[in-house]
Amino acid sequence: MPDSEKTAPSAISVCPNCESGEMEAFYEVKGIPVHSVLLMPSREHAVDYPKRDLRLGFCPECGFVSNILFDPTVHEYSTSCEESQGFSPTFNAFAKDLAKRWVEEYELKDKTVLEIGCGKGEFLALMVEEGMSHGIGIDPAFVPERLDTPVASRLEFIQDLYDERYTHLKADAVCCRHTLEHISPTSEFMRKVQKTIGDQKDTILLFELPDVHRVLKEAAFWDIYYEHCSYFTTGSLARLFRKHGFDPLELMLEYDDQYIVIAGKPASGAKVPLLDGEDDLKRITEEVKAFPERFRKLKESWLEKIDGFYSAGKRTIVWGGGSKAVSFLTTLGLGEQIDFVVDINPHKHGKFIPGTGHAVRSPDTLREDKPDCVILMNPVYEKEVREQLNGMGLDPTIFPV
Ligand SMILES: [Zn+2]
Repeated sequence: MPDSEKTAPSAISVCPNCESGEMEAFYEVKGIPVHSVLLMPSREHAVDYPKRDLRLGFCPECGFVSNILFDPTVHEYSTSCEESQGFSPTFNAFAKDLAKRWVEEYELKDKTVLEIGCGKGEFLALMVEEGMSHGIGIDPAFVPERLDTPVASRLEFIQDLYDERYTHLKADAVCCRHTLEHISPTSEFMRKVQKTIGDQKDTILLFELPDVHRVLKEAAFWDIYYEHCSYFTTGSLARLFRKHGFDPLELMLEYDDQYIVIAGKPASGAKVPLLDGEDDLKRITEEVKAFPERFRKLKESWLEKIDGFYSAGKRTIVWGGGSKAVSFLTTLGLGEQIDFVVDINPHKHGKFIPGTGHAVRSPDTLREDKPDCVILMNPVYEKEVREQLNGMGLDPTIFPV
């Protein structure tokens, strides 16, 4: 049976985060690639890549946003997964600072950290480099030969998905960065974490994941893609922590307000007052309500701009070959208006964007194929990208999303 004819699961109706609210649909994109971090070896593979529909639902009780049509069976997280952002100096510096701060603030020196969804293990290595004694990382996409760290002998990796089989692992800190947004039954996941922590009341939980307030406020549709089935705000994340018996210790937005950083520990019984950012239900409800119209306007304005460049014979390229580019190109239905995509990660060069089939090349190729317009998928990198372009003697117009 062709992939497109397979029936999608019926829509989730009860909120998987608070397990009581009714999900209300407010946004839909048809036929998006089920993976946007796996780049394809040929244009044909890329265009034929399996697609599903995405429908965002909102829980008015806890503020959780989720793809209620999410089909977890399509996932194939594996070592071909290029999820690592570790190639950008900006992101590396941020991760290093965060590891240093967490180790100091929560007195984690000489202690053990368990990282659920450790990717290629870069952050786990940073935590140990900052003084933790031992790190255990779990991730199906882990590739040992790619990790270069002086603390390799103090790291241990399990190349698998975290589930009940691993709830026996013990650690002083449980870290989970950019992982919970890939898990649909978030409450169920937290029950596994609770099981791992057991009665160790000193365990520190350290989570980091994208913030959906900004996505909704800016109608940043490029930040909505299939792998991300769960979308949190500071409030909905803190509510999840509290529901599972963890008191939030810190709750903040980092990385140009793109990511929520939360730390927690098993509740002692004493009432912990709400932290800044927890009381956000009214705000998220309004943002969800305004989103469809904001999205419609923004989509129209991007298409007008890009079609205009194309008609004028200008070369437009996209900078950044990650999930944001896949979603941006697919949601806008872009084809030949975009010449190609560049990315600084050499592992992506020569590959193709799933869905639209755009080629991904090295930024060096811009010396030959000079761009007039550069659509920059992550504004955080604007300075870095501008310097790189200027260094090649290029001065195209940059349009950060
Ligand atoms: Zn809910």
